[in-house]
Amino acid sequence: MNNECDISYQQRVDYHDKKLNTEERVWLEQHIEAGCILCRDSMVQIAQIVGALHASQLSHAPQSVLNRAYALFRPHMATQSLVQHIASLIFDSRTNQRLSFVRGEQSEAVQRLYETDRHRIDLWEEPQTEQRSYIIGQVAHKEDEETIAPMRVIAYTETGDGIEARLDSGEFHLPALTSGRYDIEVLIGEGEIFLAGIVVGE
Ligand SMILES: [Zn+2]
Repeated sequence: MNNECDISYQQRVDYHDKKLNTEERVWLEQHIEAGCILCRDSMVQIAQIVGALHASQLSHAPQSVLNRAYALFRPHMATQSLVQHIASLIFDSRTNQRLSFVRGEQSEAVQRLYETDRHRIDLWEEPQTEQRSYIIGQVAHKEDEETIAPMRVIAYTETGDGIEARLDSGEFHLPALTSGRYDIEVLIGEGEIFLAGIVVGE
């Protein structure tokens, strides 16, 4: 058996997801049976990652493994195992001055409230400089108001760049977002919450 392996990680994921055609599948199975340890170990790891994703036990895995898993399994998760919840803006302190309950003394702080069918997402925005704002977010179940600690939160710029939020005490923090429009993706155990078109700092 040769020591080289041309099979990509993505192909192994596709095999696991039963996305390969018969010819590719048979070829890969024979390749593994012929003794490719790299593929065999990788397939075991993929099965474990998928299992963990399904069981929502991700908090125990190292971040590097998670990042890779999320990148590879995002399409898989969105279509097969995780429900996507689209959040709607239901309150914005800038347009609801009368009801405004901005926290602290800083009158420039903005509070927004989003809801999905099952969740409530609070976003606070505080200007740091002319062009940058600090965003803090918190997710809770609508029914019992119990806080949900997200597994991962990414703010996407209009050009598609992803900025990963820092997770802290059940909240997510985006400490220095440049003014602009963002889509925020919040991954929680039961699915993915999507907040579209959030205007920051304008
Ligand atoms: Zn191989």
